[in-house]
Amino acid sequence: MTGKDLPLPGTSTEATRFESRLGLSALAPKTLQSEIRAMTTECDRIGGINLAQGVCDTPVPEVVEAAATEAIREGQNIYTRCDGIARLREAIAAKQERDYGLVYDGDNEVMVASGATAGLHAAAMALLDPGDEVLVFEPFYGYHVHTLDSLRIEPVLVALAEPDWELDVDAMRAAVTPRTRAILLNTPANPTGKIFTLRELQAVAQLAIEHDLFLITDEIYEYFVYDGARHICPATLAGMRDRTIVVSGFSKTFSITGWRIGYAAADARWMPTMAHFHDLTYVCAPAPLQAGAAAGLEQLPPSFYTQLAADHQSKRGRLLAALTEAGMEPSMPPGAYYIMARVERLPGKTAAEKARHLLSATGVAAVAGSAFFRKGRGENLMRFCFAKRDAELDEACERLRKL
Ligand code: PLP
Repeated sequence: MTGKDLPLPGTSTEATRFESRLGLSALAPKTLQSEIRAMTTECDRIGGINLAQGVCDTPVPEVVEAAATEAIREGQNIYTRCDGIARLREAIAAKQERDYGLVYDGDNEVMVASGATAGLHAAAMALLDPGDEVLVFEPFYGYHVHTLDSLRIEPVLVALAEPDWELDVDAMRAAVTPRTRAILLNTPANPTGKIFTLRELQAVAQLAIEHDLFLITDEIYEYFVYDGARHICPATLAGMRDRTIVVSGFSKTFSITGWRIGYAAADARWMPTMAHFHDLTYVCAPAPLQAGAAAGLEQLPPSFYTQLAADHQSKRGRLLAALTEAGMEPSMPPGAYYIMARVERLPGKTAAEKARHLLSATGVAAVAGSAFFRKGRGENLMRFCFAKRDAELDEACERLRKL
């Protein structure tokens, strides 16, 4: 058939013989709006208090804000190198050495990303192939599982043991197959606040070395640790630096979730390819905001980080008390800034129904526990975020107490 003979859709009855090929991708059903975003939208609609999303609306440190504004005025408004400005890369390298004794070359082993989210995405694009399996601990952070799904990489869930979400080493080992390529580990963890212990990390490291796996870590809550607990960066364990992709960021530490500034640190063998994939999607992280984060790293004293933990420990205490009074048996999280509570007593068959009931009864939004588990689990749990300004958190506590 020549071009001249081709039927023009809509102009010929021939068109009715052709079925439209327009449609969503095979992945689409898996990428529907997350339960967390859904609750945020519903909460905004009724003007409620949002303890659902970890938006972290606490004040931005002054130096961070001032340096970003100054950078805009100075004209730092153009594309940066795809892996970020040198000043921030160097500051991140210095931070990793100061906090964990880990040495990275700021020029080719650190990448500034558009949030930790983009860091993880770039790592998955650069290091994993469709059909590969990645061990992910359950309960999990939805973006981890959905990011892998969206790249046709298979998350293999390893259930942590209740009530303290301990690592079940046998279950982890049993989950490894010849297709396993990496372990994805979030410490301190969302949604449970679990901080992986040295023993647990040693078991993870041993498995990674034995099976020659990457370890991808998400350490975004590294400074949110309570009651004297310590965050251990898994890359510090013997034999782990070169196979670990450290992902973290400033969304939480500097209360700048909307700025989209995070990073990855990894061996020079992996980083240029990760930066390439970050470039394809984001080109670079927002230029002037990189300057803000750099100033924060350079200028904020150690007391900033201890105060951050102390402030959040106090918020945790207030929300725990309110949830206890409301009969929801909250678990005390050792880290991060979420509390998991039991919601058997709320009306509704599923956790999502219970969350909607809670929102309409109190105007407080939380996330259904089912958002963090495989289908059928987490239906009696709900997650509450306490990274809120004090007045709003206290108002939410007051409302929950009256439930
Ligand atoms: N990783 C975890 C475990 C989180 O809980 C969140 C936000 O809630 C993020 C990453 C998002 O980080 P970023 O804003 O740097 O993309």
